[in-house]
Order: sequence, then structure tokens, then C-alpha cells
Amino acid sequence: MDMQTSLLDRLFESGLLIDMGVEGLYGRSGEFEDVIRRFEALIETFATGDAAEAISFPPGMNKAHFEGSGYLKSFPQLAGTVHSFCGNELDHMNLLQCLETGQDWTKGQEATDIVLTPAACYPLYPTVAKRGPLPVKGGLFALQSYCFRHEPSNDPARMQLFRMREFVRMGTPEQVVAFRGEWMERGKKLMAKVGLPVEIDVANDPFFGRAGRMMKNNQRDQNLKFELLIPITSVAKPTACMSFNYHQDHFGKTWELTTSDGEVAHTACVGFGLERIALALFHHHGLRVADWPTAVREALGYSA
Ligand code: AMP
Ligand code: ZN
Repeated sequence: MDMQTSLLDRLFESGLLIDMGVEGLYGRSGEFEDVIRRFEALIETFATGDAAEAISFPPGMNKAHFEGSGYLKSFPQLAGTVHSFCGNELDHMNLLQCLETGQDWTKGQEATDIVLTPAACYPLYPTVAKRGPLPVKGGLFALQSYCFRHEPSNDPARMQLFRMREFVRMGTPEQVVAFRGEWMERGKKLMAKVGLPVEIDVANDPFFGRAGRMMKNNQRDQNLKFELLIPITSVAKPTACMSFNYHQDHFGKTWELTTSDGEVAHTACVGFGLERIALALFHHHGLRVADWPTAVREALGYSA
């Protein structure tokens, strides 16, 4: 049995994750959720004084905003759209007939105006752009959202529905690059507090197709994205638990987002994969939170 299946099985057995019959789609136990809540509180302690504006979006976004974002150019294979039944009574009868005879009942479903959010920050850029130019100090936002990516896998760290906590910075290139650098340092300190070994490396996103190869090279050559990696199901291939993205003026140009002096705004975001971090904690410290090292329990606010 490989390490991925074995960790997944142990998580199911312990009840921390709950099998829903689809790879990458799991229920979470109260204890698992509590670890995530506590880790988020620890993140907060590193961000106090930043005065980020908190905004919550649901896990679905405006299809027009999704189309404008450019996501389909890079990752069409990961996107998830929301479809619904929009037919008449006859269509309904056909649907029920299909169900009864084991045929595909989804063929008649039609696309709605909602697409599942692929990364917590995607709904933010058009929202902020609508407000007008950024203030002189730029913008700083705190987000958390369930995200969907169609990448079924038996690796428990590769889910189809998972939560991302993000900080997003908007402003001049200097402002956003400094923000990203600061969080790379904070990320290392944060993980050290909870006893997790990390390395930081340039990222390799799964850009689609032949055109994607160019985007991949561009991302690597220009250091547009770094990841903080922690071994979870493979020592040789540690898992990205945080990412640090510099989008340059991509979203600024796309949504006509400008700085206070009318320049196209640059943006950067820092994302925490919350389930991955919880899994890293369970993998490194054991499946029983009560048995975790004292320093780790203290950092997460558990009583001694
Ligand atoms: P990305 O936009 O790909 O950089 O994702 C941001 C963060 O979300 C990553 O650093 C991961 O920690 C987390 N993440 C990405 N994909 C998944 C997934 N399939 N399952 C769980 N967490 C993920
Ligand atoms: Zn982002």
C-alpha cells in the first residue's frame, strides 16, 4: 500500500476525515475542524497590526468574473461549473426516466451564472476594482473560502473541495513584492511554531496543454510563484501548504484596478491550504491531538 492510501485509510479509521464515496470529497470531524480553527487563530497573531479588510465570499463566483479572470486559459481541467435543471414538465419526465433506467440524467442540465471558486482571491479583484482607485497605501484583504478543483486523487492532501485562507495585497509593484517577501518569512516562522519542517521553492503549476508550457516557464523564470512545502504523503515530493503569488499587473489590467495615482495596480496573494496544514500536523505529530508535543499544543492554544 502506498503512503497516500495508507494515510487516507488511517484518517478514515480515526474518523478525522469521513469517506463520502468520491476521491477528494470528504467530511471532517469536529477535531479536524478545531485544528483548522486554531491554526487560523495562530495565523491572525502574525497578521495583527496589518489591518487587513476581511471579506467573505461564498464558494461560488459570478461566471462572468470567472471568464474574465483568465483561469480557463491556464487550468480548464480543474474548473467546476454549476449546472441546473431548467426544463419543462416533459424534460422532467425524461430526467426521471433516465434516473430509473440508469442513463445519464445530467445531459439536460444547463449552465447557471455560477462557477465554483477555484482560489479564494478570484472574486476579490473585480469587487475591489468597482470601488474605484485604491487608497495611497494600497489594499490589503483577508479571505477564506472553500475552493473547488477537479483533481480526484487518493492522496488525502489533494482534495476537490478544500479551504484556502488568503491575504491579498494590491498597490504599486514595490508594495506588493514587499508584502509577499514578508509573508514568506512569516510562513517559515509560523510553521516552526507548530513543529513542521518546511522548504521554500519556486512553484510548478499544472498549466494545461502546449500553450501551458510557456506559462509554466514564464512562472518559473520570473519567480512569480513560490511554495512552502511540507512532507505529508511523500518525503521525496513534499506538498505545497502555502503559496506566494505575484500576479504583476494581470488582475490590474483585467479589471481596470488602479493605484491612487492612476497607474495599473499590481497584485500579490499569499494562500494557506488549511486542510493540507491540518494533515501535515496529523502526519508529523500523530492522529491524536492529545499526544501532540506540548510546544505545538501551546502554539495552537490547547490547554496543557
Ligand atoms: P494554489 O492557488 O494552487 O497556489 O493553491 C493555494 C493553496 O491551496 C496551496 O498552497 C495549497 O496549500 C492549497 N491547495 C491547492 N490545491 C489543493 C488541493 N487539491 N487540495 C488541498 N489543498 C490544495
Ligand atoms: Zn490568490
